[in-house]
Amino acid sequence: MQFTKEEGRQIASDWFNFHQGQMDLSGMTDEEIKALGQEIDRKYKEISEQGKREQEEREARMKTEIRCPKCGSNQLAAGSKGFGLGKAAAGGLLLGPVGLLSGFIGSGQVTLSCLRCGNRWKAGM
Ligand SMILES: [Zn+2]
Repeated sequence: MQFTKEEGRQIASDWFNFHQGQMDLSGMTDEEIKALGQEIDRKYKEISEQGKREQEEREARMKTEIRCPKCGSNQLAAGSKGFGLGKAAAGGLLLGPVGLLSGFIGSGQVTLSCLRCGNRWKAGM
């Protein structure tokens, strides 16, 4: 089940209004209100999970796009300053094939080192 952005907004606003007691429930029985609440919670959970999935997909795409410009390897080490591979390994900063580069994204310029050919370059993120 895939929600559109518009549906997502509607679900989030329903959820908020319902739980803030700002939804018009006049004329509804307790049973109906309970059922509505469950429906709203269920949709809200789905939309949250969809948002999380989309975020993960974006991050996965971003990670796989970061490759060595020289040899194309994605076996990289990253740091906010250049550092040797020995230091990187000792510091536990050696990154796997996919890497944990997302943590660096948004922190300005990052120096990346290729573990295969030793190339180093700055990636603006
Ligand atoms: Zn390389």
